[in-house]
Amino acid sequence: MTQKANYIGGAWVEGGTALENLNPADPQDVIGQYACADEAQMRQAVQAARAAAPGWERSTTQLRSDILFRAANEILARKEELGALVSREAGKTQAEGIGEVMRAGQIFQFFAGEAVRYGGENLPSVRPDIGVQISRHPVGVVSMITPWNFPIAIPAWKMAPALAFGNTLVLKPSEHTPGAAWELFAILERAGLPAGVANLVNGEGAAAGRALLDGVDAVSFTGSVATGRKIAAGASERMIRVQLEMGGKNPLVVLDDADLDVAVECALNGAFYSAGQRCTASSRLIVADGIHDRFVQALTDRMRKLTVGDPRTAGTQIGPVINAAQLEKILGYIELGRAEGATLAEGGKRAEASTAGHFLRPTLFTESSNAMRINREEIFGPVAAVIRVSGYDEALEVANDTPFGLSSGICTTSLKFANHFRLNVRSGLTMVNLPTAGLDYHVPFGGVKASSFGPREQGRYAVDFYTSTKTAYIGY
Ligand code: NAD
Repeated sequence: MTQKANYIGGAWVEGGTALENLNPADPQDVIGQYACADEAQMRQAVQAARAAAPGWERSTTQLRSDILFRAANEILARKEELGALVSREAGKTQAEGIGEVMRAGQIFQFFAGEAVRYGGENLPSVRPDIGVQISRHPVGVVSMITPWNFPIAIPAWKMAPALAFGNTLVLKPSEHTPGAAWELFAILERAGLPAGVANLVNGEGAAAGRALLDGVDAVSFTGSVATGRKIAAGASERMIRVQLEMGGKNPLVVLDDADLDVAVECALNGAFYSAGQRCTASSRLIVADGIHDRFVQALTDRMRKLTVGDPRTAGTQIGPVINAAQLEKILGYIELGRAEGATLAEGGKRAEASTAGHFLRPTLFTESSNAMRINREEIFGPVAAVIRVSGYDEALEVANDTPFGLSSGICTTSLKFANHFRLNVRSGLTMVNLPTAGLDYHVPFGGVKASSFGPREQGRYAVDFYTSTKTAYIGY
């Protein structure tokens, strides 16, 4: 199998060792071998981005827009094929894979538009005979480090705004899913991106932590809190701009007056789809006493009918978790939940399948307390726990009692509670009668507390991270 190279300074560069991209549904299925960059190669990529920065900063916004549109067109035209790759390397269903690719394409379209519309502001000065002009300038060279659970959408939502606003970049995708990002770089090359503007280095996280923070102006990271903390420390030593998008322990509140079918659908989708491997997954189900028993009954009935298996098989609703280590970690949390005294109501074991993939039955705990570790730590698998509460006030208090604050949701037919929740829950995203998620590509995405650090990603707000303002005073 030929090795897929890294992309540095506009050239495809071989690496020393190979990174094997394995299908989590069937580890015998080797998707590809990818060149693994060592620290020296990662530093070369930063130098290439630095060398290309002045030219790209001076490029016309029309050129940037044209390139981004061409990339978007190819991504969208190949959505089935790229979606199958995303499904194969990340273990999500075919539909989820295609949906993710479409999102990546739409993000490129959106920022192709933003490239020609973003700008500064002219303000009257508070002094006589002076004008004030605020202009926006690229930050410079940006390092990007991304996780495996959205292998094309997350690189896209960092790269597209960075390029639109005149920055150059180095991306290190997750070592578990190098395939989709590699395709994205091949697409950008065909779209006419000048050499050195975007550079791809596959490799291990620790090496990236050492090599990709030196000599850059900013770093944008998505991944776990533990890694985010290390990157924040490295960024603060070097006084560079940092943006971190991390985990969640997202609450879904179900009130007595909720439509039961809607609530069950929200829990099913929010907690278990993508095998729970979404930063926005509803892992804490906070359920009011009056609906609790009916909700648990209906949810467990539906959970039993979920088809877990190989996403290549039609009808699969839930694929594998990403690898054996993650499966063991999740099983460890299931043991912990039992030991902490929660009731295992459904699942809790590996799913039977025809391949040696990392399959787990969707798992529900009931009679859990918010103080238990299963409710405080991100498990990142198809595991949710029900916390019984007396009513809305206690539900809101429990929802907010967490170190995280990414997404949240409420199922209710009361406008009063929906509105109060929307305004008072401490999270960056909130959903009413919808599964916890981040749905649209043109609005900001991110959280509060340990879930996020720094300016928001996506939508028009992305301009704040990828540019600096300059305030000019003009005497007439
Ligand atoms: P991870 O932190 O293990 O890895 C993320 C990336 O960081 C990978 O590319 C990895 O190689 C790299 N890395 C690891 N150690 C490093 C180091 N010392 N220095 C620099 N880089 C290093 O996370 P993961 O397991 O790939 O992803 C799952 C996590 O991502 C979950 O916590 C999930 O909630 C989070 N996530 C957050 C969002 C969001 O937008 N908030 C979106 C998706 C995933």
